[in-house]
Amino acid sequence: MSTRARQYDAQVLTRVRVSDHLVRLVLGGPGLAEFESTGVPDEWVGLVVPGQFQSRYYTVRSWDRSALELELDVVVHDVGLVTEWAARDVVGESVTVTEPKGSFAMPEDASWLILVGDLTAMPAMARITASGSVPTFVWAEVPDDLADYLPTYTTVHWLAQPGDGESRLSSVVEEIEWPAGDGYFWMAGESSQMRAIRKHLMRERRLPATAYDVMGYWRANAQRQPRAVDPGPIWRAGKAAGRSDEEIWAAYDEARGS
Ligand SMILES: Cc1cc2nc3c(=O)[nH]c(=O)nc-3n(C[C@H](O)[C@H](O)[C@H](O)COP(=O)(O)OP(=O)(O)OC[C@H]3O[C@@H](n4cnc5c(N)ncnc54)[C@H](O)[C@@H]3O)c2cc1C
Repeated sequence: MSTRARQYDAQVLTRVRVSDHLVRLVLGGPGLAEFESTGVPDEWVGLVVPGQFQSRYYTVRSWDRSALELELDVVVHDVGLVTEWAARDVVGESVTVTEPKGSFAMPEDASWLILVGDLTAMPAMARITASGSVPTFVWAEVPDDLADYLPTYTTVHWLAQPGDGESRLSSVVEEIEWPAGDGYFWMAGESSQMRAIRKHLMRERRLPATAYDVMGYWRANAQRQPRAVDPGPIWRAGKAAGRSDEEIWAAYDEARGS
């Protein structure tokens, strides 16, 4: 049996600017008839745009099965394969998306949720907060006014972006006042920030690996972007082999090429 991810053809139905750096694309068409959501709120697809062979990953902002409409919110930054395509009027163009995968796995007994991310993480944070059942605290480092993007019942700390591709999220996390009890920490953004945060969670906060999910979504000043890899199987194999948390995360970074 093939282990290749399934692929679906789709057309861009609409393109709307959500904010200065965020464009919403609605994809549709009969090619999506077999598309199934995983239901995991940070699920992503690989997107291949016209004239390209390489994919880039985008969070499923929403999926409407009856209308066969898949919504993606795409960050428009300076240079890049998808960003330059999405910056222009792409309505009517054909793209390919891969079957979705997700990695958010909040334990059932978590009594709070912390979400931290940059603009690329906003679509996932919006879906996670909309599906949430526990008090949720968000730290969002974004260049745009996105006050209406997350549900109003969520506590959001809006952080200005320091500048061109820079991020201060790792130092922000070191200063967070953590709620009492056991909860879940989810974070996504620039890869080097994520590595620093994982070390902090393991060494200073001594969180078990089941209490957090930290994903590098893009790499600053890089030709090659990290692959999106579900940490679950790597984690289980590492534990079964008796490896330490740090050894397992090193294997995860290697699998992602980050
Ligand atoms: C699981 C997952 C989910 C993701 N979900 C989303 C999502 O919903 N929306 C979204 O917009 N992105 C999302 N991303 C991030 C997105 O895949 C990357 O930003 C990707 O590199 C964008 O591709 P590109 O073709 O525009 O730029 P690329 O061709 O990959 O990169 C070109 C240059 O741009 C730089 N660059 C890449 N991304 C950014 C950025 N965001 N800001 C500034 N510089 C950048 C790179 O360092 C590189 O030098 C997700 C990533 C993962 C792994």
